[in-house]
Amino acid sequence: MSAQLIDGVKLSQQLRAEIAQRAAALTAAGKQPGLAVILVGEDPASAVYVRNKIKACGDAGIRSIFDKYDADLSEAALLDRIAALNADPSVHGILVQMPLPKHINPHKVIEAIATSKDVDGYSVLSAGELMTGLDGFRPCTPYGCMKLIESTGFNLRGKHAVVIGRSNTVGKPMGLLLLQANATVTICHSATPDLGYHTRQADVVVAAVGRRNTLTADMVKPGAIVIDVGMNRDDEGKLCGDVDFAGVKEVASHITPVPGGVGPMTITMLLMNTIESAERSAK
Ligand code: NAP
Repeated sequence: MSAQLIDGVKLSQQLRAEIAQRAAALTAAGKQPGLAVILVGEDPASAVYVRNKIKACGDAGIRSIFDKYDADLSEAALLDRIAALNADPSVHGILVQMPLPKHINPHKVIEAIATSKDVDGYSVLSAGELMTGLDGFRPCTPYGCMKLIESTGFNLRGKHAVVIGRSNTVGKPMGLLLLQANATVTICHSATPDLGYHTRQADVVVAAVGRRNTLTADMVKPGAIVIDVGMNRDDEGKLCGDVDFAGVKEVASHITPVPGGVGPMTITMLLMNTIESAERSAK
């Protein structure tokens, strides 16, 4: 069997078209959605991520406010800027690009963002909202993974989902979202003794580890859905995921490629959260 590809590029395009329509409706009502993006320092990868986010906003009709600061910006100055953005009604989302320079406490910065504008969904309050089933912002990568699973038409209710990885930004919120969708969820991590024992029972596997070939064909139940969050480099320096794609695609029913699977969805769900925030504030 050769699995069907879950095309994150195509799904992103569809969702971004919907986002653009919703942004246009808000703009027509005089309430254009706005996303503030803050970059501190000169990290080249961060600069690329920020540029992509700002371009995506422009394409979708979302106003972006880009604050670029030198690496020696003080923590107090950054917190003051966030307070001003919190108070600005034309700003519906605030994103501080990580990593921050060492002298700035990232936790303090994330917690300074108003929960109503925390479109990354990283704050303790946003995590608590997700955990308790309140209507907060879902972290963008797991939110995108849920959309990818949904796009296959698979009903998660009563099915077994295994998440590999338990980071606060991907693995844990992924587990909670799957639980909300009525799946039975197992979360594996580096201390899990026999990963394959768990993944072989799974109807859905989400791999979010950061190590290539973590999930191989012998670890996958025939017909399972496989979502690969990982971003790694192979021996030739090419981007690859956590999943042995060539092997697993012969066993799974659906699989996301890397690149072109989860990656494009992350920015799309950031735009979606910004629109949801703007719509809430317009009500
Ligand atoms: P992370 O914070 O490093 O977490 C990795 C997780 O994998 C940890 O929970 C770790 O367990 C677990 N792990 C490590 N080795 C393992 C093993 N041998 N077996 C089972 N679990 C193992 O990473 P992250 O931020 O969640 O990101 C994971 C991957 O996704 C990375 O490649 C990252 O680049 C990628 N990513 C992609 C996107 C995207 O948009 N496509 C977005 C975010 C992240 P412990 O907790 O026990 O250490």
